[in-house]
Amino acid sequence: MTGAMNEMSPPAPHQAKTLQSWLTGPRVGALPSLTAMPAPLLSFEFFPPRTEALEAQLWSCVKRLEPLRPRFVSVTYGAGGTTQARTHATVTRILRETSLTPAAHLTCVGATREEVDEVARGYWEAGVRHIVALRGDPPAGQAGYEPHPGGYAYAADLVAGLKRIGDFEISVAAYPEVHPTASSPETDLDNLKRKIDAGATRAITQYFFDAPTFLRFIDRAHAAGITVPIVPGILPVTNFAQVAKFSAMCGAKVPDWMGKLFEGLDEDAETRRMVAAVVAAEQVRLLQANGVDEFHFYTLNRPDLTYAIAHILGARPQG
Ligand SMILES: Cc1cc2nc3c(=O)[nH]c(=O)nc-3n(C[C@H](O)[C@H](O)[C@H](O)COP(=O)(O)OP(=O)(O)OC[C@H]3O[C@@H](n4cnc5c(N)ncnc54)[C@H](O)[C@@H]3O)c2cc1C
Repeated sequence: MTGAMNEMSPPAPHQAKTLQSWLTGPRVGALPSLTAMPAPLLSFEFFPPRTEALEAQLWSCVKRLEPLRPRFVSVTYGAGGTTQARTHATVTRILRETSLTPAAHLTCVGATREEVDEVARGYWEAGVRHIVALRGDPPAGQAGYEPHPGGYAYAADLVAGLKRIGDFEISVAAYPEVHPTASSPETDLDNLKRKIDAGATRAITQYFFDAPTFLRFIDRAHAAGITVPIVPGILPVTNFAQVAKFSAMCGAKVPDWMGKLFEGLDEDAETRRMVAAVVAAEQVRLLQANGVDEFHFYTLNRPDLTYAIAHILGARPQG
């Protein structure tokens, strides 16, 4: 097309709309330069393996992420029916065989206080000093959560119990989009405050995909008098269908744009991984631009996406 023709023909409607949005859209120069900000503090979450193949996958994940020197790595308990023994074995092996600091997840589900205390004492004696204290979800097949008779009823009770056993560092769960059974956002924050008042020194959030939702949540938490760090939980998504299903249960919203991004990729794992990296990188960089400098990654025992996103945040392997 010549310049003369260009001047004469009016732009097609969609071109006019595109030009209009280019001319009137916000002017954002760049996300902050990585050289201007220190690398963030990182932590990684793993789940205990149930088979030998999964065991190999976990340890290759641990080894790949170890050089990034996370502040701690945590090992879940109970989700998907895993046993306390597996969590214990994984945590103590991390302690023995790596340079990492492990944190053990502990829940109130299906055990008396004495039994939970016994597990906690076992961790203390093994040298584990960090517990992620949770209520836990009801076992599969049980509709709602019922405290075990004689057990710790809620996470705040568990935090208080743990503090009686040893001076553990304790992290607890927080919900930027409100826990699904909380009666209101205010009562959910009251509950978080109770856990902090009982002795927790950090909150780690349920995963979320909308950065402003997290930023509003920390504003509300500060207004409610919560001053401990609230670390965003980041879930790099590669299996969109699975995450959409799980999110419906745990109260995390999956934005429409995300469905659009993964549209048509069900049979194309390679492209899904690339899209996943872009989605998570945009999310963490936006949080970082807003001053967030601590991140907790749900690795799902797959290191590559977490490694790439941590790299984008400025983390580099250390000798
Ligand atoms: C970072 C993170 C890690 C997790 N790891 C695991 C894991 O390893 N294993 C696992 O099974 N699950 C795990 N979960 C999921 C967690 O167990 C569930 O979200 C569970 O439903 C709530 O746990 P909580 O510790 O937040 O509960 P709590 O803080 O005890 O409270 C959750 C809800 O219980 C109700 N509640 C609390 N106190 C009271 C009270 N005194 N009276 C009446 N109602 C009350 C409220 O509705 C409240 O919103 C994790 C979640 C997160 C965010």
